Amino acid sequence: MYSDFKSYLQKEISDIREAGLYKSERIIVSPQGAEIELNTGQKVLNFCANNYLGLSNNPQLIEAAKKALDSHGYGMSSVRFICGTTNLHKELEAKIAEFFGTEDTILYAACFDANGGVFEPLLNEQDAIISDSLNHASIIDGVRLCKAQRFRYENANVEDLEKQLIAAKDCRFKLIVTDGVFSMDGNVAPLDKIYQLAEKYNAMIMVDESHSAGVVGETGRGVTEHFNLKGKIEIITGTLGKAFGGAIGGFTTGKKEIIEMLRQRSRPYLFSNSIPPMVVAAGIKMLEMMSATNELQDKLHFNTKYFMEKMSNIGFDIKPTQSAICAVMLYEAKLAQDFAAKLLEEGIYVIGFSYPVVPKGLARIRVQLSAAHEIHHLDKAIYAFTKVGKEMGVIN
Ligand SMILES: *Cc1c(COP(=O)(O)O)cnc(C)c1O
Repeated sequence: MYSDFKSYLQKEISDIREAGLYKSERIIVSPQGAEIELNTGQKVLNFCANNYLGLSNNPQLIEAAKKALDSHGYGMSSVRFICGTTNLHKELEAKIAEFFGTEDTILYAACFDANGGVFEPLLNEQDAIISDSLNHASIIDGVRLCKAQRFRYENANVEDLEKQLIAAKDCRFKLIVTDGVFSMDGNVAPLDKIYQLAEKYNAMIMVDESHSAGVVGETGRGVTEHFNLKGKIEIITGTLGKAFGGAIGGFTTGKKEIIEMLRQRSRPYLFSNSIPPMVVAAGIKMLEMMSATNELQDKLHFNTKYFMEKMSNIGFDIKPTQSAICAVMLYEAKLAQDFAAKLLEEGIYVIGFSYPVVPKGLARIRVQLSAAHEIHHLDKAIYAFTKVGKEMGVIN
């Protein structure tokens, strides 16, 4: 039975390789951080983690996780509603709601699950989901699981959004869905304008703050803070796997009736294990740290501004943004791949992205800034970009 399937898979995999789309993985032997060590012995500066606040290897979070291992054990061996809820889970949910200025929060094993489980329990064929064309894969999958009618608008294009809202005007409930920050350009969703349209057409809004929580907004409360809309958005989803410590876990936070319904009906919540107490405890610590001081957000904002200004002064084509994602545009796929490979030789770890991850002819290197970076790290990266850029004729 397997031999036919095996040759089928071998053929498919070799097609992936030939198309230049095969993904291989670098192996890290150190903790995640500004400086990491690979299994080749090479030490490199990491500019491709979602470690925006530098918390992935934070001593206070590690300490909190260790304490919870002692006080609450290793795992829960249960979903939340059977016997998987500890006082820590409830405390983290309350703290996340406090952070975003929302009413209640529900935890998931990942934001992929939060997005996978948010639509189907809330909406049906009478309703409309109006989704940005560049929304994350987990939103797309979540929408597929739901019977609501689907409308799609061009990325961050409010004129097109309005057209879709008009097309959906006879639906019972309308939900506009957008990423807060889009991961490839690092652009921030125009939530102020989206909110105005939502008011005009009586629609609700869901924002996925995965790349924006901890990052965007003066105090890192995300795009809802950036646009002064704290507490006004019906649904926010996010991850503990990026700025918020980088381990694992996701959440949906928002209006309390919505969260209550998700606890009753959301399948990834009902049928998947609780996140372990140590991760939950570190999450609580993380939010306490962020309420106590704005140091990390300030440092991230400083680093981002510093890097983007220098790079654009040198002559690189940088997409402007308020996020910590800096897209260095190179346009040609091969140039982006070669450029990233040369940077690695210089000790700078970044990834080149090309079609189909980004549109054809818009290849780029994505640089992700972090509060873990010191000025000398940024300077080293800028130096390497300049050197390779000159060698490859990208800048003069
Ligand atoms: C990373 C990401 C997710 C997935 O988060 P996990 O917690 O890793 O599953 C979902 N949505 C967006 C916008 C993301 O960037």
